[in-house]
Amino acid sequence: MVQLSFHGAMASVGCSSVLVDTGVERIVLDYGTKIQETPPIFPIPVTGKIDAILLSHSHLDHSGAIPIFHAQKNGCRIYSPMITRKLSELLWLDSIKISAEEGVELPFNKKDVEETVRNFSYTDFHRPFKLKKTTITLFDAGHIPGSNMPFLDTKEKTILYTGDYKIEGSRLMKGADTNLPKVDALITESTYCDREHPDRTSQEKELVRIVNDTLANDGVALISGFAVGRIDELMLVLDKYGINYPLYIDGMAKKAITMINQHKDKIKDPKSLDKALEKVEYVKDQRMRKRIIKEPGVILSTSGMLSGGPIVWYIGKLFDKQNCSLVLSGFQTEGTPGKTLLETGRFINEDMNVEMKMHVRRLDFSSHLGRKDLLGFINKMNPEKIFCVHGEHAEEFSQELKEKGFNAIAPVANDRIFNI
Ligand SMILES: [Zn+2]
Ligand SMILES: [Zn+2]
Repeated sequence: MVQLSFHGAMASVGCSSVLVDTGVERIVLDYGTKIQETPPIFPIPVTGKIDAILLSHSHLDHSGAIPIFHAQKNGCRIYSPMITRKLSELLWLDSIKISAEEGVELPFNKKDVEETVRNFSYTDFHRPFKLKKTTITLFDAGHIPGSNMPFLDTKEKTILYTGDYKIEGSRLMKGADTNLPKVDALITESTYCDREHPDRTSQEKELVRIVNDTLANDGVALISGFAVGRIDELMLVLDKYGINYPLYIDGMAKKAITMINQHKDKIKDPKSLDKALEKVEYVKDQRMRKRIIKEPGVILSTSGMLSGGPIVWYIGKLFDKQNCSLVLSGFQTEGTPGKTLLETGRFINEDMNVEMKMHVRRLDFSSHLGRKDLLGFINKMNPEKIFCVHGEHAEEFSQELKEKGFNAIAPVANDRIFNI
């Protein structure tokens, strides 16, 4: 008997974690946090000895709580591609720094991160490896560099955990593997189970139009995005459309891009990234920031939901400039300054409460699959059981799948352990 216990991301995004108990091994799939909350929220604890952690990708909602195992002297091998380890380390250290600034104490420290990093065993896509009895193969999830979908063959059952995935390719990513072995239990994200993304070309053209209009008015086009994966994607779009103005990158994306550039096998077209990077300048210090906002140009910066990072400084300087613009490149979670800005037209955080005179626009450069691709993937895989996680509408989606004849469920906190 194989047992699945869900420890987070139940009918929500954040704290992704599933414990697979094969009777011989206890394997943890992701162990993330919900960072939009202060202090961050952690998964329902996984206690007792564990044999392995499989990390689908570096985003903190999947990786953020992993150092806790070390802090609690319950560390074990963590399996992922090397780029996932590097990006996770960057994000873990940043989360410690941000928490310290906010006066929040995390249940792990820098030393735990250092020791966790030493526990990684590097694995790669399509290279099966064996624990005691379970054979694991990582498939490409197409979400961000290094993102993978672990496929577990326990001898009794096969399980696919999608993590976050996107089937359609983007400028940066190839798109997820879809030719997969037979899956008995599918654990799928369902972030966009209820909606489609707008056509990507329309979003690219709109971004380029806003940037060109802003530059024509001698303004600064400020574009916010997530540090890992998103800023690279936006940079590739701007390069593709030949934006010929100074282009700057600021915030944690600088380090993330440097790391991604060292693992070019994890992106679609390494040459296009090299070419785009030739035109980019990294913002080095405050002096440079003050200089570059005085002339027309494009600044790509973190954080994606305006909750921190250099983007906040830029907004503080440019909010009342009608010839400047701010593009939010993705979904804005409830309670973030980005969401408040879209709803009220005001930028509000602990230090500022101002009416935005800059032109503000949200575009959709999501790295999650939309509803049609999600349904298409489920139909193609036709699994015995489906577990819908990582989405506000996971429960409705599981009902819909049931009506289509699938055995589907959206785990919730008081019904979260299943034998498969
Ligand atoms: Zn993700
Ligand atoms: Zn996620």
